[in-house]
Amino acid sequence: MTTSARLALDGGRPIRAAMLPYGRQAIDEADVDAVVTVLRSGWLTTGPAVAEFEAAFAKATGVAEAVALANGTAALHAAAFGAGIASGDEVITTPMTFAATANCVRYQGGTVVFADVRADTLNLDPSAVESLVTPRTKAIIAVDYAGQPCDLDELAAVADRHGLALLEDASHALGATHRGRRVGGVARMTTFSLHPVKQITTGEGGMVTTDDREIAARLRAFRSHGITSDFRDRERAGSWLYDMQVLGYNYRLTDLQCALGLSQLPKLDDWVARRRAIAARYTAALAALPAVETPTVLGDREPAWHLYVVRLRLDCLRVDRAQVFRALRAENIGVNVHYVPVPWHSYYAALGYRKGSWPVAEAAYARMLTLPIFPTMTDTDVDDVVEAVAKVLGHYAR
Ligand SMILES: *Cc1c(COP(=O)(O)O)cnc(C)c1O
Repeated sequence: MTTSARLALDGGRPIRAAMLPYGRQAIDEADVDAVVTVLRSGWLTTGPAVAEFEAAFAKATGVAEAVALANGTAALHAAAFGAGIASGDEVITTPMTFAATANCVRYQGGTVVFADVRADTLNLDPSAVESLVTPRTKAIIAVDYAGQPCDLDELAAVADRHGLALLEDASHALGATHRGRRVGGVARMTTFSLHPVKQITTGEGGMVTTDDREIAARLRAFRSHGITSDFRDRERAGSWLYDMQVLGYNYRLTDLQCALGLSQLPKLDDWVARRRAIAARYTAALAALPAVETPTVLGDREPAWHLYVVRLRLDCLRVDRAQVFRALRAENIGVNVHYVPVPWHSYYAALGYRKGSWPVAEAAYARMLTLPIFPTMTDTDVDDVVEAVAKVLGHYAR
């Protein structure tokens, strides 16, 4: 280790010549061919690839139904609609997530209630959730933070005791398992994102999985203006008539994107295995650094490792997290921070949420750093990250 070398931030030579991003898609020629085939087919949107991709995704996650949507945020909005969340309803979720998890409640006119997380996994703390249930609580939206499944059985017990819907935002967790079950089939509805940094991608894209066929039908109407029939039904019936039954949106995923998804999906297991190998390599190597806490994985679950998030022991350092972040970026290591607690954003602050209300999530936020992880990263890339972390933390050691 070159821990004594001058930091790139101070004019030294960076560990890497070019920036290593924290996440990145993998696209091969088969993916390109799949999209080109659709381009030449005449169907660009809502053709055969949509139903095919939905069926393949449902099979991969072990559920009855998968409903494709324009992006993961639209999937959350659809799930909030499907759960009947409306004005006056309270929905309990985590502050340690991307804003979209909470925003979907606001789209439906509901009130977001943020419950604190567990200190080890940074997933929702089921007892904190239960303490916030009121007669107005309608649903819980759990997140599988960084790709580690949340405490779904304990949260389901809370939901059952109080008659709540349990939704799971599994945007980080496609390919993860929990007590032997694949993420996607346990909560009433589970949502996924198919953004390029997620486990598989369709460019933009999202999915809701459910075992409830009636809900799936309602979500398919919701993604297309609230109209139940599509043009094929009308063609078969020889009629121009259609009926808009509820207020829906245009949240459709195109055939082009579904073709890409169909081509990506078979690679999921290998990619998740590679993410697990990278995580294991990080955890083994970082154990030597006293200023780093590596992620805790509970024994009954296998994460899909969307993110590899370490926490700094700031008492071992002369600087704060922001300085470590800047120094690592200067070394061309694309570190990131996931997440600024959602209620800290100006929009939520203006609604009256106050800093200090979620001490566990907020303390974790102050010292977390996301290290790069994506399936095409090589062992050499991983070693570069470890070397840069050792260099920077060695330099700033107290
Ligand atoms: C990525 C992500 C989303 C949003 O997905 P998009 O496809 O970008 O709309 C929602 N929730 C979480 C936790 C995410 O990581």
